[in-house]
Amino acid sequence: MKFSDFDLYNTVHDIYLEFERNQNKPRSADWLIYHRKRQFLCHLVIERTGQQYDEEKILKAWDDFGKNKDKYRLIVAVADRFGRKCFYSNRNKGECSHTVCVENIFNHGDPLLVEDCVISCRKHVSKGKG
Ligand SMILES: [Zn+2]
Repeated sequence: MKFSDFDLYNTVHDIYLEFERNQNKPRSADWLIYHRKRQFLCHLVIERTGQQYDEEKILKAWDDFGKNKDKYRLIVAVADRFGRKCFYSNRNKGECSHTVCVENIFNHGDPLLVEDCVISCRKHVSKGKG
């Protein structure tokens, strides 16, 4: 996931959770396989984001989200709280990279609490320690 993909992943997050509530089996491979289901999913995402993502990108985000649901839910929640920028940007640590990571800066281990985490880029993740 890239920083430029936040709208897409936030929307996928919302739709995925709605599917779960409505027992639409979001993890089912049918959503990725069948033409009509793919189209339905892509239509929902494009309508809500107002952006013309291509089908491949939407379905990849859907699949990524399903495979790492806890991670992406945490990213969305942390970004909602603290913003969509790398925690280490503007701290004299050089340019950020494009890939989004989430990091527990207090190192409390599991469970990962939103308040303990920050969004960081791949380049800067863990650079805050030591
Ligand atoms: Zn960074």
